[in-house]
Amino acid sequence: MAIFYDTHAHLTYPDFAEELPQVVSRAEAAGIARIICIATDLESSQRAIEVAEQFPNVFAVVGWHPSDATKATSDLRPALRDLARHPKVVGLGETGLDYHRLPGSKEGGTTADDEAIKQKQAALFRQHLEVAADLGLGCVIHQRDSLEDTLAQLEPFADRVRGVFHCFANDAAAMRRIVALGSLVSFTGILTFKNAQNIRDTLAATPMDKFMLETDCPFLAPLPYRGKRCEPAYVKEISELAVQVKGCSLYELSAATCATAEGFFRLRG
Ligand SMILES: [Zn+2]
Ligand SMILES: [Zn+2]
Repeated sequence: MAIFYDTHAHLTYPDFAEELPQVVSRAEAAGIARIICIATDLESSQRAIEVAEQFPNVFAVVGWHPSDATKATSDLRPALRDLARHPKVVGLGETGLDYHRLPGSKEGGTTADDEAIKQKQAALFRQHLEVAADLGLGCVIHQRDSLEDTLAQLEPFADRVRGVFHCFANDAAAMRRIVALGSLVSFTGILTFKNAQNIRDTLAATPMDKFMLETDCPFLAPLPYRGKRCEPAYVKEISELAVQVKGCSLYELSAATCATAEGFFRLRG
């Protein structure tokens, strides 16, 4: 069986609380040999570490999601450093910038509100990058409607920090700018959606050693599960679509994406 990793799973979400051991063993049975559990705030970071302690093939990434930036304390760095000391922590995030649905686009919202949120997101993102640089860890980057600002913030760190632009949905030109900074992209089940030809085109243009696969579960279940709760086992369906786009074998895709993930998260092969 061709082996794959789920490089972005939110196993701490309540969606999985009732049956986490089953979710992990279904992934194993489907050939998904490792799962990277991604946090969205300090509490879920601690939970991600606990899940990683519970399952040998689960690893944790600790950080604070930009969509919840306003709830974060002003300096996350001491907490991030503390969490990252744990041997199963393999990266920082998810962090980044998300300009989708800022308050200014809603009724009663102003551009001043948007500016304040953007500044808070930028400060948090920068803190993750600083800690990642200090500790030699990669950064899992969430970017939505904010490509220019995200690249501008990453650029000064690019010689010390590798990022992965997760749930990548931009075009090949954007992918090339990310790869030029030494960073990576990763693709979700959106690849399987009928209306996602643009994302398949981006994958087609992405070098074999510059991308990873992920579910972003419980969100974004691939076909034929679209609309249902997603889980790490479904990387199998994502990989089957990806081989069609790349014109390679499942084993070639397995070897390339697992090696990329092992390098990025410093996992032993
Ligand atoms: Zn995200
Ligand atoms: Zn996520």
